[in-house]
Amino acid sequence: MTSYSSPADITSALTRVAGAPTLLVVSDFDGTLAGFSTDALHVPVNRESIAALQALGNLPNTHTAILSGRHLAGLAQVAGDVGDIQLVGSHGAEGITLTSEQSEKLEQLTGQLEALVDGIDGAFIEHKPVHRVLHYRKVSPDLHEGLVERATALATDGVHLTHGKCIEEFSVLDVTKGTWITQARENYSADAVVFLGDDFTDENGMRALGPNDLGVRVGDGETLAHLRVTDVDAVETFLKELLQMRRTLSPA
Ligand SMILES: [Mg+2]
Repeated sequence: MTSYSSPADITSALTRVAGAPTLLVVSDFDGTLAGFSTDALHVPVNRESIAALQALGNLPNTHTAILSGRHLAGLAQVAGDVGDIQLVGSHGAEGITLTSEQSEKLEQLTGQLEALVDGIDGAFIEHKPVHRVLHYRKVSPDLHEGLVERATALATDGVHLTHGKCIEEFSVLDVTKGTWITQARENYSADAVVFLGDDFTDENGMRALGPNDLGVRVGDGETLAHLRVTDVDAVETFLKELLQMRRTLSPA
């Protein structure tokens, strides 16, 4: 059975990071700041969580980012007004130029994936700048296993595959939420990083965290995170508590 962190555990973990000289707060979007919907362009966004993140970013020496697997343009559209929060799409892979070898590989993969979903009701391939994503949330559940198996077989030399919730995401770049967090930590000279996420791809981010950081897993599933909270509403509570503590403990 999944066990969740108690309010006391959460407060104690927050006490450890909230006073860091420079703090970076990074959150996943879907399943963390927003709930799910079969219409990916109209998901219920928790504006209270967004407001808490914005307020955190307005404090001295505190940086905030939303790090999503969605492509940047799509993320900006569904997230709405997020003020100064940095939006990062495609796990941080946008803006990187592909080599001709990588471009060819992506093209070949695209053909294979389109052939894979051909004739399967509810399955489709999303084209992101450097990723191709197989979506199968609307496919009959008895077909999921076989579909994932055949998709996994396409991840050969130079193609990186990440499993998600009813998605299989392929990339020809080895860029993950973990590599983005490592880079951002350096760019901001952050002393501590708080990272929240609910999915397999977020575990790459959790893996990039060190002993001074704080990882928060939303919902069930295996995780390397320090804390586990139940859902999108619990994320709101967490962010508000972090904001409150940062206001009190912030060194500036
Ligand atoms: Mg998510």
